[in-house]
Amino acid sequence: MKKPVIAIDGYSSTGKSSISKVIADKLGLIHLDTGALYRGVTWFALQTCKDENGTIDLNQLFSSLEKIQLEFKNDEGELVLYLNHKDISKEIRTNEVSDNVSLVAKQKEVRDFLLQSQRNLAEKGGIIMDGRDIGTVVLPNADFKFFLTASIDERTKRRYNELLSLGIEADEQQVKENLIERDKIDSEREIAPLKQADDAIVIDNTHMTKRETIESILSYIHKI
Ligand code: C5P
Repeated sequence: MKKPVIAIDGYSSTGKSSISKVIADKLGLIHLDTGALYRGVTWFALQTCKDENGTIDLNQLFSSLEKIQLEFKNDEGELVLYLNHKDISKEIRTNEVSDNVSLVAKQKEVRDFLLQSQRNLAEKGGIIMDGRDIGTVVLPNADFKFFLTASIDERTKRRYNELLSLGIEADEQQVKENLIERDKIDSEREIAPLKQADDAIVIDNTHMTKRETIESILSYIHKI
């Protein structure tokens, strides 16, 4: 049987990436965390494209996009993101990146830059991709589409604990504000906004564990 192409979209901190990783392992699929790509571009911009006020100079970023080479390497089952051959997997989770990523991600130049490589990866099938626009724009013909959602308080708790486990200092209120702000920018942007595809299966996992969410997704896939 041909391996499926699976799209997982949804709000920030609904567990999309960690859930996709487990499903990929179980079904022998490649996993692509597309949020990490947008975070990687943002990290690059913060390092090399700041104006005198310390904010990202978008025009400078657009003209530097061709200098960005992002690739994932498999490090003992963990997908590690490299920017121009440097491991940036920890840097992309910092608050500075979270605070700037949605502004970078709403730019057409940035989205065009990342779109084709995402599509190329899915060409041979056997992939699970998580993000915001996978079922709607990147892979509209995916075999399965899921859209994850959960209450803002539950998502705040999850992101806060994730940051602590990475050794990144965090303030719960600030984490909550960042999630609200990102979801707003992501949902309201003109190009490829965060929204549920018409044919997506919606899963509200506010009261579900990670394992229960995974089982729910697998039950749809195994039905076929
Ligand atoms: O998934 P994660 O929270 O790491 O994504 C970070 C940001 O990247 C999102 O808030 C969104 O602005 C952007 N993103 C996007 N399209 C995707 C994946 C992520 O715009 N497919």
